[in-house]
Amino acid sequence: MTEQPAKRYDPHAIEARRQAAWRARDAFQTPSLTEGQPHKYIKPSAPFTSGNIHIGHVRSYSIGDAYARFSRARGDAVLFAFGFDAFGLPAELGAIASGESPSDWVSRCATHMTGQLQRLGFSFDWDRSFLSSEARMYRWSQWLFLTLLANDLVYRGTGSVDWCEHCSTTLATIQVENGLCWRCHNPVQLIQRTQWYLRISAYVPENDRRSQELAASGMWDESSLASQRFVLGRVDGVELDLRAPDGTELTVFTPHSDALAEARFVAISPKHPEVERWVANPAVLEQLEELRSGGLQRDSREADAIPLIDTGHFLSGPSGDPLPVLISPAVDGRFGATAVLGIPELDQTDAVIAQRLAAQVDAPVQAPLRAESALYEVRPAVRYRANDFSISRQRSWGTPIPIVYCEECGTVPVPFEQLPVLLPLDLKPTGAGNPLAERADFVQVDCPRCGGPARRETDTLDCHFDALWLWIPACVPPHERERPLGEIFALEDLRQWLPAGRLVAGSDSGNFVFDQRIVTKALRDIGPLSFIADGEPFAGCLFHEMVIRDGRKMSKHLGNVVDPDELVERFGADTVRLAVLYAARPQRTLNWSDSAVLRSHRFLTQVWEYSHARLADAEALASADDGEPVKDTSEHLRLKLSTWCETAVEKITEEMQSLEMHSAVRNIMRLFDRIKDFEKRVAARQGALRRADSDALIDALTLLAALLGPFAPHLSEELWIALGHNGDTQLPWPGVSSQVPA
Ligand SMILES: [Zn+2]
Ligand SMILES: [Zn+2]
Repeated sequence: MTEQPAKRYDPHAIEARRQAAWRARDAFQTPSLTEGQPHKYIKPSAPFTSGNIHIGHVRSYSIGDAYARFSRARGDAVLFAFGFDAFGLPAELGAIASGESPSDWVSRCATHMTGQLQRLGFSFDWDRSFLSSEARMYRWSQWLFLTLLANDLVYRGTGSVDWCEHCSTTLATIQVENGLCWRCHNPVQLIQRTQWYLRISAYVPENDRRSQELAASGMWDESSLASQRFVLGRVDGVELDLRAPDGTELTVFTPHSDALAEARFVAISPKHPEVERWVANPAVLEQLEELRSGGLQRDSREADAIPLIDTGHFLSGPSGDPLPVLISPAVDGRFGATAVLGIPELDQTDAVIAQRLAAQVDAPVQAPLRAESALYEVRPAVRYRANDFSISRQRSWGTPIPIVYCEECGTVPVPFEQLPVLLPLDLKPTGAGNPLAERADFVQVDCPRCGGPARRETDTLDCHFDALWLWIPACVPPHERERPLGEIFALEDLRQWLPAGRLVAGSDSGNFVFDQRIVTKALRDIGPLSFIADGEPFAGCLFHEMVIRDGRKMSKHLGNVVDPDELVERFGADTVRLAVLYAARPQRTLNWSDSAVLRSHRFLTQVWEYSHARLADAEALASADDGEPVKDTSEHLRLKLSTWCETAVEKITEEMQSLEMHSAVRNIMRLFDRIKDFEKRVAARQGALRRADSDALIDALTLLAALLGPFAPHLSEELWIALGHNGDTQLPWPGVSSQVPA
């Protein structure tokens, strides 16, 4: 048999052809669901519109896309679409740097990033993509804000923010560098401000309970479950009621039920609902006010610097000893807004506090009457670190908060039917002030209640608040997007797609996901999501780690950034996608090396050239004369090949179902080696492949092409066609339907 000249692997030509074909047949359009059809909403993360797709995005979307293509190939209806997270600081800073309005900046970024993702061949339904900064989209945030406000899940509270006097603006944490303003380098102050808060505490215990159900379902990977436990910050222990000499009681918590007698003090969080009862004199009150305006979010690692207020009160402790009552934010970071026993023997933070307490007191503690050891009822109890957080920001590039302040009526919510409250598009933030507050056309408004003069709220919603709903609109068919939200939540399509089958996101998404789970439960109880009985937005979840290089995070500063565009230009999209999946399990940090790309490229090149060469052989054989019938000496080898194929399909299918893409890719590579091995053995035994051998080989290569579909979709579809199959429809997963070669 003569070796045919290998057909060269030209990824650019192949990928351009396949992508044109996909566009022409609208291959990734979300199907409308028919009753009982298996379906899956695969939720990718929502990228910030901050410039470019980076290699971390490529990793994330390669996992999600492989799963989407695998699911389609198995006959599932698939929804795979996302919206850009377009509001917030990164976009605002990008716009300031480029001298554009944020609105121009994000639309330019979204267009560019969409182009990059399309070049990579990801199978998103682009008709369903959107920017969170479009008015028809941010009305979701405003609707959600008003809905939660009406149900007491959004409220006004006081909190501290970083403030630059020189720039007359509040700053985000990342804009404070060593206590100085990022823009003018003047010192930053902490000031107290009234802010809007989200009351997640109402649903924290249910999130805890449901986490156990999610773990039992087996659809959440360990890393995503761990992130939920971390955000939750659950501490198990006991609580008991202690009494002050005047009879006032306080419920205190401790995780150390076996060491109650070792308690040396009681610490109350400044956010404890009853904290003011323990503030007896103006000096302590002043300290508390100062503490409240001085940043309450520090954690226990800073125990030696954390504020400590001695209230002068005592509670009778479990051993009968009087315990001084302190107020300290050191409680919050460990146990939430509660009161705890301080047990220096068992807790490092408590030890530091006890030491400082001893140093503060000049005279020996004036112990009030030593109570006789009382009998305490000790109850099992749980505390959570997760707590309410502020959702308003003093910045212009965000969803306007639909609130109006009227001299007559006070704080007035904008009526639902007047949404959206539009954000002016020609804002040009400079980093100083809040441009929204300086716009008379935005600020001055008639009160929706009395018609009198009023002012709009000029704080905007943090983009974290947008994220609370960003996972929903992909389920809305594009032509239904303009409808009132009440009608949208009633859409049959939306109700079918939710909850999402699988979320695939970076391991830094734990907070987003936790709060999305909270809000789903709130909307379930309020009504719009009542059809999600357990209040869980994601039936399954996979968190992947990031991509680093030379053991370090990639940054322009270090000059170690891997540019996906450059890689695609050199090797083609299929190679880059295969390489990020081949290089590491999703749950492991991917330390970038070019060897994974080279290995993947070599593999795809070999598959391409080998398949074409064998196909040419097969065609030559088919046209040759049958000749004399000969004894079949390779049947056992063909059987072996067929067993290898069956085993590979079984294994790879299991791996795809559990999103173990990395193992799946390795098993595909192994199968290819076995196919080549089969040919070698047959040739060694009988000199050349006969027709039956050649048919078996082509069947195996066809199977290989189908298995490669989720990973190297362009190459695999072209091979599929070359091997004589229909390329106008979804390439089927082996064993799924009659379309698969016998
Ligand atoms: Zn400044
Ligand atoms: Zn009014």
